[in-house]
Amino acid sequence: MLLKLANLCYDYPNTKGLVDLNLSINAGEFICLMGPNGSGKSTLLRILSGLATPNRGQYWFHDQLITAAYLADAQHRQRLHQQIGMVFQNTDVQLFNTSVAEEVAFGPRQLGLSAAAVEQRVTDCLALTACTTLRDRVPYQLSGGEKKRVALASVLALNPDVLLLDEPLNGLTIAAQQQMLTLLQRLRAAGKTIIMASHNFQQVQAVGQRFIIFNSAHQIAADVSADDLHRQ
Ligand code: ADP
Ligand code: ADP
Repeated sequence: MLLKLANLCYDYPNTKGLVDLNLSINAGEFICLMGPNGSGKSTLLRILSGLATPNRGQYWFHDQLITAAYLADAQHRQRLHQQIGMVFQNTDVQLFNTSVAEEVAFGPRQLGLSAAAVEQRVTDCLALTACTTLRDRVPYQLSGGEKKRVALASVLALNPDVLLLDEPLNGLTIAAQQQMLTLLQRLRAAGKTIIMASHNFQQVQAVGQRFIIFNSAHQIAADVSADDLHRQ
């Protein structure tokens, strides 16, 4: 078991974020979190990434209980951040360097890798995400699709086991959406676990292998495999 949630609840000051989630995810799954806007998809991704911790219930990652007390330790936070990478819905919050190459180098440098190892990761991750020609560009001047790919490259540079993506297709052209989905399928084939939030079933039905569907009461209303869907 890669991760497990038991009776997990998350409350915002004036509203519920997540209500009583029970969920187990295995390594190598390709999961789509579905449901209307405001149903809790982003909140779940924030919990899985350690940016927020549950008010009630448990979240285990690799048998480690992830709590506020556990994450108060900077080394624990850094380890979780290395193992679980997140591409935010608004990539402007995660692109802050002066060039694409610097953006991708930032994470591995923080890990303390040698300059040669950092450069190798930058080259590899830019190639994987079709960003090699963007290397010297300024991130905030890129198109929406380019920003998403650079954000993904910068996350991949930490070599995480798990990739979380919040609406990665939003704002992309049809061609860029297809390019992103193909890339995610390649990453899954390479062994990554992928958990992606999307409010648009049409866009993701071809790639998802398991669909976890939230309702407007912030609960999991259904949890179905692609096989189940195709049998119906
Ligand atoms: P989704 O990603 O499915 O659109 P969210 O997880 O963003 O859903 O939101 C779940 C609920 O929590 C919604 O009612 C939303 O308004 C609320 N919410 C999300 N973020 C915040 C926040 N920072 N402060 C207060 N309420 C929030
Ligand atoms: P998402 O589906 O990613 O939540 P939103 O547009 O709903 O997209 O949220 C964008 C940002 O605003 C997120 O950081 C979210 O946490 C925050 N947010 C969402 N709903 C609320 C809310 N009701 N009150 C305060 N902040 C919110």
